[in-house]
Amino acid sequence: MSKILDGKAVSESVKEQVALGVNELKKAGISVGLAVILVGNNPASKIYVANKKKACEATGIKSFEYILDENTTQDELISLINTLNAEKSVNGILCQLPLPPHINEQAVIEAISPDKDVDAFHISNVGRIMVGNFDFLPCTPAGIIEILDYYNIKIEGKNCVVIGRSNIVGKPMAMLLMHRNGTVTVCHSKTKNLADITKNADILISSVGKANFVTADMVKEGCVVIDVGMNRSEGKLCGDVCFEEVAAKAEYITPVPGGVGPMTIAILMKNTLTAAKKQNGR
Ligand code: NAP
Repeated sequence: MSKILDGKAVSESVKEQVALGVNELKKAGISVGLAVILVGNNPASKIYVANKKKACEATGIKSFEYILDENTTQDELISLINTLNAEKSVNGILCQLPLPPHINEQAVIEAISPDKDVDAFHISNVGRIMVGNFDFLPCTPAGIIEILDYYNIKIEGKNCVVIGRSNIVGKPMAMLLMHRNGTVTVCHSKTKNLADITKNADILISSVGKANFVTADMVKEGCVVIDVGMNRSEGKLCGDVCFEEVAAKAEYITPVPGGVGPMTIAILMKNTLTAAKKQNGR
């Protein structure tokens, strides 16, 4: 049976460090603020926004919430972002995705000042990650690296397989693993013979979004399995990985819930502190 990578515990230690940093700034008369914008009534998004507010409270970050109607226009949303870009008490701005279909997500992401783009989705931050010269890292992939580091799991020289190539998880994950000298393979829906590839993974990261997608016959004995998926099966939250059977083969595995999810929010807090420091010349 494998060791559980406890994302909740790692996230608590990240948030403790952030709280110390926020407190240091407070002593110097600087408060740290994060603006979170939610458009519409997506139930999952509402839960994420509530969790982000809780993490702000735990770390001493002031949270500014903007809950907008489903029918908010793109111009209205971008106008709010422009106001927040200019607002000194707001160090980070996050617009919860997905947005309603009448709003162009990329246009909204590009409207956020790169200095306040704590999700690291702005094209200039994406480019900086590509060349390895960055202030912020995207929260989910950075949280995964933090878990691996916490448990002293080496990436260098390892065969790392990422399933999924989205802009927010798969692609930046591959980039960060490459920066750490992993040998990276990225798989997606057009990949042929997926199991032949995943069976070679020392570190397997699944970000597909399908319950029971990764089965025991797809992994090798002694590997590390990171489950990014957040799915519902029979009303219960679950990842992409058939946990019990894969855990019987893997050396380390993240659970869902309690794995990658809490790390994503902890890194968001870390990025907000980084933004505040940078904006105040520290
Ligand atoms: P996404 O944009 O839907 O991307 C899913 C990826 O999976 C795509 O690249 C897709 O390939 C690939 N895929 C789909 N079917 C496949 C198949 N049969 N074989 C191989 N690859 C396949 O999703 P996402 O935003 O990256 O999120 C993925 C999952 O992670 C979701 O469950 C999401 O809720 C979860 N998530 C969790 C956190 C967290 O904090 N824990 C954060 C973000 C996301 P194509 O590109 O070819 O379509």
